[in-house]
Amino acid sequence: MSKIKVAVYWGAACGGCDVAILDIHEKVLAVNEACEFFLWPVAMDFKYQDVEALPDGHIDLTLYDGAIRNSENRHVAELLRKKSKLLVAFGSCAHTGGIPALANFYGIEAIRNRAYLETPSTVNPERIIPQPSVQVPEGEITIPEMYDQVLSLDQVVDVDYYVPGCPPNPERIWEVLAAVVSAAPLPPRGSVIGASERSLCDGCERSRTEDKKISGFRRMATTIPDPAVCFLDQGLLCLGPVTRDGCGLQCVKASNMPCRGCYGLPPGILDQGAKMIASLGSVIDAREPDDIKKIVDTLPDPAGYFYRFSMSTSLLQRRRPS
Ligand code: SF4
Ligand code: SF4
Repeated sequence: MSKIKVAVYWGAACGGCDVAILDIHEKVLAVNEACEFFLWPVAMDFKYQDVEALPDGHIDLTLYDGAIRNSENRHVAELLRKKSKLLVAFGSCAHTGGIPALANFYGIEAIRNRAYLETPSTVNPERIIPQPSVQVPEGEITIPEMYDQVLSLDQVVDVDYYVPGCPPNPERIWEVLAAVVSAAPLPPRGSVIGASERSLCDGCERSRTEDKKISGFRRMATTIPDPAVCFLDQGLLCLGPVTRDGCGLQCVKASNMPCRGCYGLPPGILDQGAKMIASLGSVIDAREPDDIKKIVDTLPDPAGYFYRFSMSTSLLQRRRPS
């Protein structure tokens, strides 16, 4: 059997998705048997020129993890789109922007200033900020241009499939690779694979009390949650109602931690944050605006909570430019 040709790339990412591929444990030997790698910066020393020299469509499957944060991420996304038969947005950051897209609440100027001028540990009396191009006696030095807005992969190139998760569940990764290796019929193009169609709450075994109302939010840092009771019933924010099932309730069941929404939106939901606000509307124990505000004020950083993984593809997408 000829091996399938595979590329794995990380854009704006932490590397967790790459590590999750190795978390399929001994099955990685089967991957080695079945796949020939053409790019995988975390694991192997290929050069971009090697990929540029390939015929278009030469790579069978590219797993692109990470968001599009700079011109290098975009260049490689466009290159791999051209060279690949199947391009998969792999993990939350490629799927919906992920953690890097929280930067969209600030914009590039504020981030640069914070990193290079304002942090207490920064010593930069000449106020030097990196530029995409700089002339030195030896010639020109360039670095990728950082964008003002973090984008998901499909906001830059066409994507064939999405595998959500921060990181994707290793068992689901194996299922995706096995499907491509075995040439099994694939779902319609544009599908989310390695996840189900239902919400996390649909598979959650925690008890819920009908018409339960909460009069304030609590924080995990100061609470030991009851592992048998719905987090929302305990006043702890859980994004289960607006998150696609597929992780096996990793946080909620295995770790007694509320869901933060990394598997993205279930079908039929346009905006994870807006839908979560609607869900909370039915559990808050207040009717008057002032009373509602008092309860909502007990929730620190609501926008950061609601859009932790989905800012790029939300209706907001970014802070409104001033
Ligand atoms: S909100 Fe969270 S804890 Fe409650 S049922 Fe849904 S997934 Fe389970
Ligand atoms: S419980 Fe939520 S945050 Fe945790 S892995 Fe699953 S989808 Fe992601």
